[in-house]
Amino acid sequence: MTAATVTRGLVDIRNVHKSFHGTEVLRGVDLTVQPGEVVALLGPSGSGKSTLLRTINHLETVDAGSVTVDGEFIGYELRHGKLHELREREILQRRTQVGIVFQNFHLFPHLTAIENVIEAPIALKRLSKSDALELARGLLDRVGLAHKADAYPRQLSGGQQQRVAIARALALQPKVLLFDEPTSALDPELVGEVLDVIRDLAKLGTTLVIVTHEIGFAREVADRVVFLDDGRVIEQGSPDEVLSRPRHPRTREFLAKVL
Ligand code: ADP
Ligand code: MG
Repeated sequence: MTAATVTRGLVDIRNVHKSFHGTEVLRGVDLTVQPGEVVALLGPSGSGKSTLLRTINHLETVDAGSVTVDGEFIGYELRHGKLHELREREILQRRTQVGIVFQNFHLFPHLTAIENVIEAPIALKRLSKSDALELARGLLDRVGLAHKADAYPRQLSGGQQQRVAIARALALQPKVLLFDEPTSALDPELVGEVLDVIRDLAKLGTTLVIVTHEIGFAREVADRVVFLDDGRVIEQGSPDEVLSRPRHPRTREFLAKVL
């Protein structure tokens, strides 16, 4: 193995740079996530949190640096000592290892809850419809929505839609699950039911990276809090270290605003 293929964690982000139209939004990010770890990613709006999450399943390419999941490069691969871009089919395959849940649920509106959940395992993992349905029923049960399997997204509350989105992300049995502000679009009374599902996943040992402004929740479930500011990780540590005794002035300023 060459130095570049030695990985330290399940997710390994090294010196990642990313610009949009000449503006650098990720400025050399390093982040390692260990199997079973729950990482809360915090930072002000515009600091690059969503962009960073999106690089982990190749919804964004990186300009420099590398992202690996379980030792496999996302988007690129080292061949003969050089990074080669992967073909679309390879990217889709690798993407199945990383689940993502967005702020606005992104369910297919014309499909029922259970149809939303079975779509990816059938299309990407070639599961038979009956196996996919069995898997999906189990997952909907796990998020407390077995009784809503045949409902369309518009017939569900925001909290229920987000729980379907979580079941759908789990259907590919990803190695890591990413959450991008999963409760930010919800009415306050619906936040708890979604956090309960995420808390259960954390307890089961699922590897999670969660972008959230729910500081209390981050403190409770995260093994590690990572603070991103202006495209750089400026502070990380245990929830107590970062949230109770932040060292960096920018972290203090942010916490003063959200707490
Ligand atoms: P955060 O999630 O922390 O709020 P983002 O990663 O969404 O931050 O955005 C970081 C910066 O990159 C912002 O200035 C945003 O406007 C910009 N940005 C994000 N995505 C794009 C894009 N597709 N095209 C142009 N600019 C983008
Ligand atoms: Mg964002």
